[in-house]
Amino acid sequence: PDRLMKSLGRPLSPTDIMLADRLGEGQFGDVHKGILYPDTTEEVAVAVKTCKPDSAPEERVKFLQEAAIMKQFNHPHIVKLFGVVTQGLRTYIVMELAPLGQLRQYLLLNGESISQDILLNYIKQLCSAMVHLESKNYVHRDIAARNILLLSPDKIKLSDFGLSRWLEEADFYVASRGKLPIKWMAPESINFRRFTGSSDVWMFGVCCWEILMRGVKPFMSIKNDEVIGKLERGERLPLPPDCPPSLFNIMNHCWQYEPEERPSFTDIEQQLCVILEQEKHF
Ligand code: ADP
Repeated sequence: PDRLMKSLGRPLSPTDIMLADRLGEGQFGDVHKGILYPDTTEEVAVAVKTCKPDSAPEERVKFLQEAAIMKQFNHPHIVKLFGVVTQGLRTYIVMELAPLGQLRQYLLLNGESISQDILLNYIKQLCSAMVHLESKNYVHRDIAARNILLLSPDKIKLSDFGLSRWLEEADFYVASRGKLPIKWMAPESINFRRFTGSSDVWMFGVCCWEILMRGVKPFMSIKNDEVIGKLERGERLPLPPDCPPSLFNIMNHCWQYEPEERPSFTDIEQQLCVILEQEKHF
C-alpha cells in the first residue's frame, strides 16, 4: 500500500475536502460532489469517489488502482486526478468535476437540440483522448457513452479507468458486476476476452454510433448472447441518420473482424480532421 500511495499523487487530508450531494453510484461506493480547499484562499469543485467504509483492505487497494491509472494521463479530454484521501475508514479518489454528468444522459435529454457539429466535435475530442492512451500503450476496455462525462455543453472528458484491473480477474469481474459490455466489445474480446488497442478501436466505433444516435444503446433489441453470431455473419450497426458517409466509413473500418485490419487512433484522428473540415456548417 505504501508503494501504491507514492504513485497516487498528493495525499490529501479529509479536512481538505467537504462532501456534498451524491452524483452517482460507483462499483465501490457512492460518488459525491465536493469542495477541495487546496490552500486557504482557493476552493475547487471536485468529484469524490468513495470506497465503502466497511470494505476489506484488498478492496481498498483495488479501488485506489483506478487513481494510479488516472495519474499517468495529462490530457484536456481525460478526467484529471487531484489526489487521494486514505485516512482511517476514509478512502477517497478526488478528481475533476464534470458538472453536466454522463454524456449519454445528456444526449437522451437534449436530443435533437444538440447540433450535428457538436456531436462531431465530441467524437473528435474522444479520439484525441484515445490517441493519448494509445501513445502510452494503455487499453481502456470500456469505451462507451456512459463513461464519457461532460464538463460543459461542448467539452467531454473520458472517465472510468476501472475496468482494466478487473479483467485481469475476469471471473471476479463477471461475478461482481453481472456482465461485460458485450454489445460494445470486439469479436475477439467476446470470444477470448482479448483486449488490445485494436479492441479499443472497435469500441470507439460503437461509441461514435451512440453519440450520433444521441444516446441510443447499440443492438437494443437483441440479447447479449446473440451479438457474436450477428457479428460473425458480418452484420454491423446501421448508418445513423445524418451521419456523413465518410464518417460511417471510418466506423466500419473500426468494425473490421480482424483486429490488425482496423485503423490506429492516429489514423482515425487524421481522417476525422478532414471530415470535420468538410462538414463544418457556418
Ligand atoms: P465505477 O466505475 O466505480 O462504477 P463511475 O466512474 O461509473 O464508477 O462513477 C459512477 C457515477 O458517478 C458516474 O456514472 C457519474 O454519474 C458519476 N461521476 C463519476 N465521476 C464523476 C465526475 N468526475 N464528475 C461528475 N460525475 C461523476
